[in-house]
Amino acid sequence: MKTTEIHISGRVQGVGFRPFIFNLAEEFQLKGYVSNDELGVIIVCQGENSEQFFNEIHHRKPKSSEIIFSEIKEIETAEIFDNFYIKPTEKNIVVDIPLTPDFATCESCETELFDEKNPRYFYPFTTCTQCGPRYSVTKKFPFERENTAIEVFKMCPNCLAEYQNPEDVRFHSQTNSCPNCGIQIWLKDNQGNEFKGSNKEIFEKLAKELSQGKIVALKNTAGYLLMCDATNSEAILELRKRKRRPTKPFAVLFSGISTMKEYLEISELQIQHFKSSESPIIVTKIKDKKDLAIEEISPNMNTIGAMFPYSGTLKLISKTFGKPLIATSGNFHGSPICSTTEEAEQILGKIADYFLHNTLEIQHPQDDSVIKFSPKHHQKIVFRRSRGFAPNYFFAEELSELNKEKNKILSLGGDLKNTFAIVPNNHVYISEYIGDLANFETYERFENTVKSYQKIFNFQPEIILKDLHPKYENQNIISKFSKKSAQSARIEEIQHHKAHFASILGEKKLWKKDKILGIIWDGIGFGTSTEIWGGEFFLFENQKMERVAQLENFAWILSDKMSKTPKISALSISGNNEDLKFAFDENEWKIYTNLIEKSEIKTSSMGRFFDAVAFVLGYEKPLFFEGESAMWLEKISQDAFDENVKLIDYLEEENFENIPTKKLFSRILKEKISGKNLGEIGLNFHYTLIKAIEKIAEGFAVKEIAFSGGVWQNALLVDLVIEFLGDKFELHFHEKLSPNDENISFGQLNYYLKLK
Ligand SMILES: [Zn+2]
Ligand SMILES: [Zn+2]
Repeated sequence: MKTTEIHISGRVQGVGFRPFIFNLAEEFQLKGYVSNDELGVIIVCQGENSEQFFNEIHHRKPKSSEIIFSEIKEIETAEIFDNFYIKPTEKNIVVDIPLTPDFATCESCETELFDEKNPRYFYPFTTCTQCGPRYSVTKKFPFERENTAIEVFKMCPNCLAEYQNPEDVRFHSQTNSCPNCGIQIWLKDNQGNEFKGSNKEIFEKLAKELSQGKIVALKNTAGYLLMCDATNSEAILELRKRKRRPTKPFAVLFSGISTMKEYLEISELQIQHFKSSESPIIVTKIKDKKDLAIEEISPNMNTIGAMFPYSGTLKLISKTFGKPLIATSGNFHGSPICSTTEEAEQILGKIADYFLHNTLEIQHPQDDSVIKFSPKHHQKIVFRRSRGFAPNYFFAEELSELNKEKNKILSLGGDLKNTFAIVPNNHVYISEYIGDLANFETYERFENTVKSYQKIFNFQPEIILKDLHPKYENQNIISKFSKKSAQSARIEEIQHHKAHFASILGEKKLWKKDKILGIIWDGIGFGTSTEIWGGEFFLFENQKMERVAQLENFAWILSDKMSKTPKISALSISGNNEDLKFAFDENEWKIYTNLIEKSEIKTSSMGRFFDAVAFVLGYEKPLFFEGESAMWLEKISQDAFDENVKLIDYLEEENFENIPTKKLFSRILKEKISGKNLGEIGLNFHYTLIKAIEKIAEGFAVKEIAFSGGVWQNALLVDLVIEFLGDKFELHFHEKLSPNDENISFGQLNYYLKLK
């Protein structure tokens, strides 16, 4: 009897692959079995049509699955199968496959949620093989119920019948549960009083409290969200006050695409992404603000982060409430998102009036992912890569070729907007967004997440990659590894902006190119002991990376204070220009000008340059979050761009090797003083930078340009690059990773494997 063995690797666990194979094998009248193994899925079958069967697997695979590798071969066996079955996975295997992220609730499960006659009516945890939480409930892999937080809920006879029925959408659905056997929700006020009722009554009570201006902490699939009525200015201001978040925009949850269309300018492309299994928040232009309290939601902006109800809980609350809701990560001022009842009540107790808890234990808390499309050329820009995308992977064939010694690598990433990356096997795993490690709780989250990856992959790092910065928080973890492994691990340092460049080269698989220019612009990164970098040009040529140009240096003073106070950047870049005297009192003027004159530390930070220009054009407040003034500058400049004003290159007459910071800045100051339109000046500043890139690129005779660093979250800048350089150069932007410091971990890894 001919026996065939098939191996399939990729995203094939937790996506309904085994039940799919079972049904397909029946159709082809094959006998044998399918099972999960460390490399994905293994199928052993006997019958005539195994080759056709193999081809059909590729054509008809489940929607959320991805096949990266597959093979079919004949094997010898004495065993004769008399049926086809799903064989339980062997215990204690260590997987070498991509981890499966959380999936948004599918349309068929959504229908059940709102069907009065359905047993899952108002049951927020309605899932099937094609949808529901995965990574957030996973304790270890392979993805089997017993390895997840759902294990504690024993399936009732009905659920079990679905689980065992090959015709059912919940056949072998590991997350299957129902109101009888599954996860319970309960509602409490912040005094500890519990509200009793059915799920429907609980959501109705919640909606009633929200409509009276109350703030709710609601446990969603990957962590708590704070919510209030998005049409109620007072409620939003109260939330801002309690959360200590004065100005940073909030995301808004809509009940569905049709409601979104009433408020927002949304394209087909955006709708596709809202309805995808990742379902990120998308920063979208407002069409008609209607009843939205827009000034409180997104001060001074004409965009909002729009959230699609991607989980059962979000669908139920948004439909029951009937109006848009603020939906922001349930945390307090920079701490990580809360995920347990205790954490939520302790940390969010001073913010929320009500708590909607549930009995499902979150294993991997994650924030929502956020993306944007540039308005004109629809270039995708990732602002935060987390739930739905993480732990994203790259089956980096190139990397595994490079990592010939199969070293186990941990790459620590940056300190602000931290992520880390590991190579424990043939795959690269990039963690979800973790956040600013200067916050103690966030640092703890970082350490715990590293530990949980170590457990999943049975992993001790042999090589640890860190930033050049001598004082980054994330390197503290090295001392936490066992003495033996900490001593034997080799530690390598990689410069911040080189890591950024390596990150885009790696993401876009550009390592084989002869020559490519990297425009690496961000806030700050450690350059040398006297230089803070941030406006850098690198050339990758003959397999070497070299810094070839920069934003001309200016004095770096008062470190963090400079980052939060745009007028200091303006003063420094201007070289103590008297025209700025109006912004300082006598004492400040004396101290700052003196510090600037004597400063031994210089910077080429593009982020600070944007701050300085924003200041001159009217953004005179201190900043509450990184990039705040740059967002405002982008907005007024975008408005001018939309009006098709004539563009001026302020440096047209100049020849330069490095961008002449002071010269460009004094021109902007002059334009402002002469009373030109502020939006137009802002737009011309953006345009001048694009023309400067062009000059420098032509100087090095390159044909391709790659972009990385947080400044490239500026969608106008991206559109202008495409508009004016797109015909002359091949352009490469991040699409899977964020351009900001979230990509440092992946960049460190690439740099190490390729260039160290
Ligand atoms: Zn479903
Ligand atoms: Zn049940």
